[in-house]
Amino acid sequence: MINVTKTFLPPLEEYNIQLQRAWNKEWLTNRGELVLELEEKLKKYLNISNIIATNNGTVPLQIALKLLGKQGEIITTPFSYAATSAAIVWENCTPVFVDIHPEYLTIDETKIENAITDKTTAILATHVFGNPCNVEAIENLAKKYNLKVIYDAAHAFGVTYKDKSIFDYGDISTCSFHATKLFHTGEGGAMFTNNTELHHKLFYSHNFGHKTALTFHGLGINAKMSELQAALGICVLSYMNNIISQRKKVVDFYNTHLNLNKIQILKIRENSNWNYSYYPVIFNSEKDLLNIESKLNENKIFPRRYFYPSLNTIEYTKGEEMPISESIAARILCLPLYVGLSNEELLNIVSLINLNL
Ligand SMILES: *Cc1c(COP(=O)(O)O)cnc(C)c1O
Repeated sequence: MINVTKTFLPPLEEYNIQLQRAWNKEWLTNRGELVLELEEKLKKYLNISNIIATNNGTVPLQIALKLLGKQGEIITTPFSYAATSAAIVWENCTPVFVDIHPEYLTIDETKIENAITDKTTAILATHVFGNPCNVEAIENLAKKYNLKVIYDAAHAFGVTYKDKSIFDYGDISTCSFHATKLFHTGEGGAMFTNNTELHHKLFYSHNFGHKTALTFHGLGINAKMSELQAALGICVLSYMNNIISQRKKVVDFYNTHLNLNKIQILKIRENSNWNYSYYPVIFNSEKDLLNIESKLNENKIFPRRYFYPSLNTIEYTKGEEMPISESIAARILCLPLYVGLSNEELLNIVSLINLNL
């Protein structure tokens, strides 16, 4: 069976060596030595100056919205995983969707201004499939209208834009280290800000608001990463360059062998270094997609419809029509992409697609 992704697992002996450290200390959470070490290693690897490791990639979105969204209207993308708009609704904010760019698939920055009202507090945009949003245009709008910017960078581990980590853009960025993501800790995530005051707020918010054991800075929740998660992250991180170069080979294979006259692939934003996190293909019609999906399924190949449905059509978001996002969501399929896919498997996938286009 070939799935859309396969979790990269380091040798179990290596995980055991890291776990032994937690056993020696008899310390499993509350920012023990493994979480602190993983944070330091990630700072170096990503070339960033701040990070807070978290228990997953969704709670950081909620914390960011709690601090910056203030129950107002949040301008957001309809083309992302459900976590993005669910976090908005969960935090009692109102999602206001802005349609996406038809090639980059990120929020269409030229349509944002039109959606701003006096209730707008923030923009929450996704670097979907690791493809950077137009961060400059978004920053200019945020300055002009005094809005906060949060990036759901769940897919963007290791991506740089203009030679800076993508996590350095916006007021707050969040990432997911879920087992299906590029870098993972089983479940896990992180949040990032370059603003010292905001960093302080994010930090206490992720630990129940504690100042000391007996005093509190303010309201908080539990978003702490455990030592067991960090142990896995330390092991996976040491393979990261290898993981990315193997995935690049798969992407190059698809780019060379798929019939690109008949399908659309993701256009990567200029001046960015992408991370080969997903391989989405966009068919001419949903009928083509369903036909090819079933041919692949018959051959035990299971791509995924990332991201369907368009988030403005989910009942709880009460969104307006988003023609581009809805059209893309109906026609987009993410092909298998992971370390260890053989050339034979790739040839099989490519020929099943090309034959049925
Ligand atoms: C995976 C994902 C999340 C949520 O991350 P978890 O770690 O699973 O909580 C949020 N946003 C997007 C776009 C994602 O793909």
